[in-house]
Amino acid sequence: MTNTSFPHADAPKRAEAVLAQLKAQFGERVSCNESVCEAHSHGEALQVSRMPAAVVFAESTADVSDVLKLCHHHQVPVVAFGAGTSVEGHVTPPEYAISLDLSRMTEVLEVNSADLDCRVQAGLTRQDLNVQLRDTGLFFPVDPGGEATLGGMCATRASGTAAVRYGTMKENVLGLTVVLANGEVIRTGGRVRKSSTGYDLTSLFVGSEGTLGIITEVQLRLHGIPEQLSAAICQFENLHDAVSTAIEIIQMGVPIARVELMDEVQMAASISYSGLTDLQPLTTLFFEFAGAPESVREQVSVTEDIARENNGLRFMWADTADERARLWKARHNAFWAAKAIDPSARVISTDCIVPISRLADLIDGVRQDIAASGLQAAILGHVGDGNFHTLIMTEDSDAGHARALDLDRKIVARALAMGGSCSGEHGVGLGKLEFLETEHGAGALSVMRALKATLDPLNILNPGKLLPEGPVFKG
Ligand SMILES: Cc1cc2nc3c(=O)[nH]c(=O)nc-3n(C[C@H](O)[C@H](O)[C@H](O)COP(=O)(O)OP(=O)(O)OC[C@H]3O[C@@H](n4cnc5c(N)ncnc54)[C@H](O)[C@@H]3O)c2cc1C
Repeated sequence: MTNTSFPHADAPKRAEAVLAQLKAQFGERVSCNESVCEAHSHGEALQVSRMPAAVVFAESTADVSDVLKLCHHHQVPVVAFGAGTSVEGHVTPPEYAISLDLSRMTEVLEVNSADLDCRVQAGLTRQDLNVQLRDTGLFFPVDPGGEATLGGMCATRASGTAAVRYGTMKENVLGLTVVLANGEVIRTGGRVRKSSTGYDLTSLFVGSEGTLGIITEVQLRLHGIPEQLSAAICQFENLHDAVSTAIEIIQMGVPIARVELMDEVQMAASISYSGLTDLQPLTTLFFEFAGAPESVREQVSVTEDIARENNGLRFMWADTADERARLWKARHNAFWAAKAIDPSARVISTDCIVPISRLADLIDGVRQDIAASGLQAAILGHVGDGNFHTLIMTEDSDAGHARALDLDRKIVARALAMGGSCSGEHGVGLGKLEFLETEHGAGALSVMRALKATLDPLNILNPGKLLPEGPVFKG
């Protein structure tokens, strides 16, 4: 019987054999350099770290296929690496693993302006895609804060500030090219907006965190750049009022482009980090309105009324493109702003999501949990989706981490009890493994394990991530 647990007793020998063949085929694109391996030993935030045996830089689907054929043959684990911005230990390699870096696969392969779609290589970042789309009048809206690759964003089913209007990666990926564990290349989905043929393999690979296959090309939906964009902020003396405003905007069906929250702790950090010196350290909602001028006027008017009824202070408008960019950059840099409060501290981010009607109750409860923990924490997030992060700042020691994780568990337990999820966008990696059975139930998990066993029977693809060990559904 095949031994699929890692590391194998003869793992060093297997890794050595793979390395020799990789060097022969890929030459300088295989690196065992200490700083290169260190950069591939962890992601952000949850810095569980382990050096890979080597890093291979792929430049094509054929390269990825060759690496997987070889690693499959020798049963050596492979961890796909995009930009390494994931925050739950996703890219930390198991022992003697190959880190397969796709960041050199950055081509835009086709743009079909008339159909609003494009096909790109998986290592392209969403920022670079939008630069290349600039003259087409189209853009790609999913915007996680990090400089993430589109392959990594597919793999974590990422979202960001624009998901309230445009959806997440799940809604914006039409098809994929995927290399399976044995090196075979498949295409999933296509270019059409809907199809009712066969199992939805695209959705299976989106969110699979490199555990079922390695994505080399992505067919994406694009969107027209709106005729008018307006951004504003509104500050509140009271966090609950700000959350109620966001909930009512969604419940009223305002097609808002973004509605983001930062509490007073986060605002104090961001004012100093991003130079927002014209703002007060008060809980703040950031809004963006998009569409035809008449529609924007209507959205603004309803939003202002709702905010006023919830004790919002006056609206402040960002009228120019530069001012809007400054506001959203500050929002995207919130994590680094929180980290700058105490550079020696570790910042651990929660990522709960609940049905929107429960959001205010959850945040009230989280506030109590933070106070009881004695830790400093900021609350911010994509409140229009019911998703927010608690950035827990803790001493960078085992005891400090344990205190932060204890608080994280309390917050997750509250969210799950309200019908929510432990992660709206960051994914499972290693950090959220312990919550999966409570969230999905033993039956659903055993079916997920059966899918993994079918697509990756030797367990070489990012082993140990996304799925806690347990029984496999046998039918
Ligand atoms: C400051 C900051 C803010 C962030 N804000 C957000 C946010 O708002 N929303 C959000 O969703 N996330 C956010 N993130 C998390 C992170 O940016 C996302 O998880 C992102 O999707 C990861 O992309 P990446 O290219 O860095 O992937 P990596 O970190 O390199 O990899 C992530 C996972 O995907 C797998 N993988 C990578 N490439 C491929 C591939 N081509 N095929 C198969 N598997 C692959 C890896 O093995 C790993 O399991 C933030 C992170 C930071 C540091």
